[in-house]
Amino acid sequence: MKIPLSNVVYVGNEVKYAQDALQSTWIGGGGKYITDAAEALKPHTGCHHVTLVANGTQALIVALMALGIEPGDEVLVPALTFAAPAAAVKLLGATPVLVDIDCDSWAINPIKARDAITERTRAIIAVDVLGHPADYNALRRLNLPIIQDSAEAHGAQYSSKIVGSHGDIACFSFHANKIITCGEGGAVTTNDDRLAERIRLIVNHGMKEGYRHPVVGTNARMTNVTAAILLAQVERWYEAIETRRQILDTYQQHLPKQVRLRPVVFGQSVNWLTTAYCSNRDEVVRHLRERGIDARAIWIPLHRNQPYWTSAKYPNATQVAEQAFWLPTYNNLPDAKIRHICSLIQEVYDGRTDRHATAHA
Ligand SMILES: *Cc1c(COP(=O)(O)O)cnc(C)c1O
Repeated sequence: MKIPLSNVVYVGNEVKYAQDALQSTWIGGGGKYITDAAEALKPHTGCHHVTLVANGTQALIVALMALGIEPGDEVLVPALTFAAPAAAVKLLGATPVLVDIDCDSWAINPIKARDAITERTRAIIAVDVLGHPADYNALRRLNLPIIQDSAEAHGAQYSSKIVGSHGDIACFSFHANKIITCGEGGAVTTNDDRLAERIRLIVNHGMKEGYRHPVVGTNARMTNVTAAILLAQVERWYEAIETRRQILDTYQQHLPKQVRLRPVVFGQSVNWLTTAYCSNRDEVVRHLRERGIDARAIWIPLHRNQPYWTSAKYPNATQVAEQAFWLPTYNNLPDAKIRHICSLIQEVYDGRTDRHATAHA
């Protein structure tokens, strides 16, 4: 039985809206669905300014540009994350300064962030990593602009507020494996009117009426066809999050006791990809993969990747990266398949990983 890590499920108006967008001939970065999808996202991001962009990485670049990040500037980034936040900093010629994660929340550690501040530090990118919010009350005390990367945390909450408004600017991704998806897409959100104006300019060539360019911009716009798919997905926001929560519950019931689920220590997290950890991670992942289950070890920490290499130590990031892995998570994953995956993991602990032994069992 082959089971992918993630899968896309259209249960709503995706096809209908996309077809409507195509037929309208508004297929570029303007049109009704751009406006409607941005509007629909406002309550789900806690922000009254939502700018749709081509993808989550562009969202981060635009957010950094809006804060005026330049070559020579330093931006604090957690050592364990998908690489996009660090890459965005580098692409602007600035320096990502890696900070170890908190051993409980797995998000950027605020005390270690404080220790990493220099006279060149201009901002923090806090990632709501694997659906768990970062500790914004503590990060706020560092008195630096905060970019909240909520790409993996659609609908998570911190201090009873939905993620998207805890920093100065937040970034979302709607890539095909994210909870709410339109294939490739992203959003930049803020409640700061001045920043919102800059974001809108930067996304659209830094351009005002009459081809005036008061700032350097890029073209980071989402297309109307993509926004049409996004709007249909946003209409099913709560359903998508609830389904993934149920998947997490089912894993929780059936996973062997040696395998633990990623801890949740404050706020309310969401289950982007079911993330578990154990001391023999590589053995478990290998066994699952041999049986057609697309389980995966999580990211290699940034300090172990060539562009971000440093000799500094990140013990929490290193430990989590050695033990954590992802289990298949998508909106129509049946309980029976989750039980099957868990029974395969049980085989590892029962010493039944030999292919013939299970085939005849
Ligand atoms: C997926 C992801 C991104 C990048 O989003 P894209 O839409 O793929 O460019 C950025 N940050 C984090 C934390 C992510 O998980």
